[in-house]
Amino acid sequence: MAAPKVAVVGAGVIGLSTALCIAETFPSCSVTVLSDQFSPNTTSDVAAGMLIPHTYPGTPIHVQKQWFKETFTHLFAISNSAVASEAGIHLVSGWQVFKSTPKEELPFWSDVVLGFRPMSEAELQKFPKHRFGQAFTTLKCDCPPYLLWLEKRLKAIGVQMHTRKVADLWELHGEYNVVVNCTGIGAHQLVGDEKLFPIRGQVLKVHAPWVKNFIRDGDGLTYIYPGIHRVTLGGTREKERWSLSPDPGTTKDIFDRCCSLEPSLREAQEIQVKVGLRPSRQCVRLQREVLSQGEVKLLVVHNYGHGAGGFSVHRGTAKEAARLVGECIAALKNSSLRAKL
Ligand code: FAD
Repeated sequence: MAAPKVAVVGAGVIGLSTALCIAETFPSCSVTVLSDQFSPNTTSDVAAGMLIPHTYPGTPIHVQKQWFKETFTHLFAISNSAVASEAGIHLVSGWQVFKSTPKEELPFWSDVVLGFRPMSEAELQKFPKHRFGQAFTTLKCDCPPYLLWLEKRLKAIGVQMHTRKVADLWELHGEYNVVVNCTGIGAHQLVGDEKLFPIRGQVLKVHAPWVKNFIRDGDGLTYIYPGIHRVTLGGTREKERWSLSPDPGTTKDIFDRCCSLEPSLREAQEIQVKVGLRPSRQCVRLQREVLSQGEVKLLVVHNYGHGAGGFSVHRGTAKEAARLVGECIAALKNSSLRAKL
C-alpha cells in the first residue's frame, strides 16, 4: 500500500506532541495536523504547565506513573540542552504546603521529580498557617513557547498543518487512513462523549521576576508557579462551567490567596487574566476505535480527556497513541495484502 496518511485533529499540547511522536516513529507516514485553533488560542496556552501530576481515578496508578516518568525524562533532557530556552522548558524548585499532614505523605510521583523530601522547620517558618510541607524540584513548560517550538519541529520534519474545524470524523474518510482525535474539550461535541466535562480554570499571569520558587497549597487550588518571563497565579476548579469570560471577583480572590502565601506578590505588575476549560474525565480516553458505516470502516485513535494534568503526562500518552496508530497501520497493511490475494 502507499504511505499511510494520518490526520491528527487538535493542536493543543496533546495534538502536537502526538503528531510529533507519530511522525518520529513512522517516518514513512504522511502526517497532517488539522485544528480550528492553534497557539495562542488553545486551552494548553492558558495552563501553568507545571509537571505535578493530577490523579485520574479511572486509570491504574502504574500507568499514570509511566506516562509521567516518560514525560519528565523527555523534558528533563530538553531542559539540559541548548534549546531549553526556546522550548520554554526549565527546572523549578519549591514547596507544596499543607495545613495538616496529608493521608498520603509520599505521592506516587515522588521518586520521579528530583530531590523530594519533607520540608524542614526552617522552611516551614515561611508559611505560618501551614504545618507540613514537601520540597522538590520539577519541570515547567512555558506553554505558548513550548507549543510554538513543537509546531516548528513538526514543520521541520514535513508535517502539514491546516486550520480546519472538523464537524464529524467521517469527513476525513477517503482523505486519510487513520484519524487521531486530540480535540480536548472539543470531543464533547465532536464524538458526543458525555463522560467528558469542563473544569473551568481562571489564572493570572503577572510580572514578578523576584519570585523564583513555586508554592502550591496542598489542596491544589492556590498556586504560584514562576515561569521564564511571567508568574502564573491560580486558581479555580469549577466543574461543568463553560464560560470563558474572566470573572473580576475571582481575579481578586486568586490574587488575595496568592498574596497570603507570598506577600511580596502585592508588588506584582502587568496582571493578565486567562481562562481555560480542562477537558476532564475519570480517565484519559486513549484507545483505538473502528467506526463503521455498513461495510465502510474508519480507523480512529482517541487521545483526549487529560483534565488538569495534560502537560504532566503529554509525552507518555503521545507515545501510547503512536503505538496504537502503529496497530492501525499494521491492520491496514494486512487488509490490503488480503485484498491482493
Ligand atoms: P487543548 O489545548 O484544548 O487542544 C485541543 C485542540 O483541539 C485545540 O487546538 C482545538 O482548537 C482543537 N479542536 C477541538 N475541537 C475541534 C474540532 N471539532 N475540529 C478541529 N479542531 C478542534 N496541566 C498540567 O499538566 N500542569 C499544569 O500546571 C496545568 N495548569 C492548568 C491551568 C489551567 C488554568 C488550565 C485550564 C489547565 C491546566 N492544565 C495543566 C491542564 C492542561 O492545560 C490540559 O490538560 C491540556 O492543555 C489539554 O490539552 P489538549 O491538547 O487535550 O487540549
